[in-house]
Amino acid sequence: MEKQPLYEGKAKRIYATDKAGEYLVYYKDDATALNGLKKGTIASKGVMNNKITTFFFELLGKNGIPHHFIKRVSEREQLVKELKILPVEVVVRNIAAGSLAKRIGWEEGTKMPSTVLEMYYKNDDLGDPLINDYHIKAMGIATPEQVKTMSELALKINDILSAYLKDKKIELIDFKLEFGVNNGQVLLGDEISPDTCRFWDTETHEKLDKDRFRRDLGNVEEAYKEVLKRLTGEEA
Ligand code: UDP
Repeated sequence: MEKQPLYEGKAKRIYATDKAGEYLVYYKDDATALNGLKKGTIASKGVMNNKITTFFFELLGKNGIPHHFIKRVSEREQLVKELKILPVEVVVRNIAAGSLAKRIGWEEGTKMPSTVLEMYYKNDDLGDPLINDYHIKAMGIATPEQVKTMSELALKINDILSAYLKDKKIELIDFKLEFGVNNGQVLLGDEISPDTCRFWDTETHEKLDKDRFRRDLGNVEEAYKEVLKRLTGEEA
């Protein structure tokens, strides 16, 4: 009989393992957008995002970012430390795009004069609303100290990833992070992939991320392949 996941999300499944405190994450090809209204699959996305996330977490670990990742164990699976996920999505933005471009009326592609950090309440029923540290404190979903740690780590991660990607001719437009608590420590969790970041080719500004799926731009799988290739040299 198939093992039952502890949790099934839109793009991943989480399983318990024989070892206490360790989970197995399985990356699916399923893709959703528009708060679940648009559904589809992207061929081999799970395999590519497992590899891309592995690459980024290893890079961040080497640069002092505490995270949940242990190791990639198969094409679609990775071992991670058990986390109690804080229901806050942390978004960092360098260039106006997506919901921010709409909200403040800036043309997509406009460089933000300074980096923008946002928090969203992770709640599908509410459509992940934008919140600030006062909401978080009042709602009791994370402590002010945890908010400070998440914010500092998110900005540090932005510096590390932006610099690294620039060398690979990729511009980091924006990205979303999730954090969780393990033994009282805030660790980076979830994934870092073209599902959760906007990547544009530095020269052509071609989109190399999930916006190709969200906006029906075509060549979705090819964009994920290109990111993997630029990061690891590997042909998917
Ligand atoms: N993002 C994500 N999950 C979400 C919402 C956003 O990974 O549920 C990522 C998205 O890929 C982008 C960044 O967070 O890199 C900012 O997304 P935005 O708020 O512009 O939302 P969207 O335009 O996708 O609705």
